[in-house]
Amino acid sequence: MAKILVTGGAGFIGSHTAKLLNRAGHRCVVYDNLSRGHLEFVKWGPFRQGDVRDGGALCRLLDMEKIEAVIHFAALAYVGESVIAPGVYYDVNVGGTCALLQALADHGLDKVVFSSTCAVYGELSDKSIGELTKPEPINPYGITKLACERMLSDFERAYGMRHVCLRYFNAAGADPDGEVGEDHMPETHLIPLVLDAAMGRRHAVSIFGDDYKTADGTAVRDYIHVCDLAAAHVRALDYLLAGGPSRTLNLGSGRGASVAEVIDEARRVTGRPISVVQAPRRPGDPARLVADPGAAGEVLSWSCRRSDLGTILRDAWRWHEQRFSGRVV
Ligand code: UDP
Repeated sequence: MAKILVTGGAGFIGSHTAKLLNRAGHRCVVYDNLSRGHLEFVKWGPFRQGDVRDGGALCRLLDMEKIEAVIHFAALAYVGESVIAPGVYYDVNVGGTCALLQALADHGLDKVVFSSTCAVYGELSDKSIGELTKPEPINPYGITKLACERMLSDFERAYGMRHVCLRYFNAAGADPDGEVGEDHMPETHLIPLVLDAAMGRRHAVSIFGDDYKTADGTAVRDYIHVCDLAAAHVRALDYLLAGGPSRTLNLGSGRGASVAEVIDEARRVTGRPISVVQAPRRPGDPARLVADPGAAGEVLSWSCRRSDLGTILRDAWRWHEQRFSGRVV
């Protein structure tokens, strides 16, 4: 079985992927600078602390370890932060990916699974989003991820480096065994904030906009369980190891849930009251983002197992209570 370098493997999706890689019989080396990740999430392979922009450190690691392929998560991933501080997003996301790909090319490595995002698509209409939809990102986060996708194509032309770009919709949930889960600082995502309100760590959850053109007026997103995302990464890796050509694939459940539906379901799952306050729309938020995940299903022989809203919230709640009880926001 292969030895895999997992950059950003101490983060939310990276740590869940490391667990499933291990279960599938692969070995992984986690490379993370711990700026956003958690050391205690590194449980399934050796850890090397380092920055993805540090080409020298990456080359030393690749000299020492016999790596066969890379799953590249290490990046900054907040839309709002990218608008306020674009420079750091270009530096870490684009500069970091460039340093990594050059180190891989210099070591003759040619297989990369890349963590991309539905933010590359930009403002969209009512339909489900397929991969043929023209990317037109509207914030620096989406622009930097699209730049990395294009960089991967350039490295393929120059060095024959094959890649699978996985464009995630809304990652949520947690490992059902409770070994890892979501812990962002600061937290801006809907589901952990709703669970904070259910736990009493926050007074209420804000609903950003109730006048969208959707059934109940609140914004609709495609929530996908982090374990389903992690499973897709393992499939994408095996696909590249088996010689598959480069692909770009959407990862979502294919179903939309509105902010109001998420809150209602969280009340049901937790059995707790959850107070809400109406707030203005968040700048840059489209009304509806729902994936057409058909291509990923076909190419990777993959489908979602835990991405119904009830299971996502049950798994997230179990983790959230265990991790955050007694901790103030
Ligand atoms: N949202 C909200 N209140 C919050 C956080 C998020 O109403 O406190 C909404 C947000 O406007 C979006 C949806 O919930 O429509 C999902 O937001 P999240 O930040 O979780 O993910 P995003 O879709 O921005 O990647």
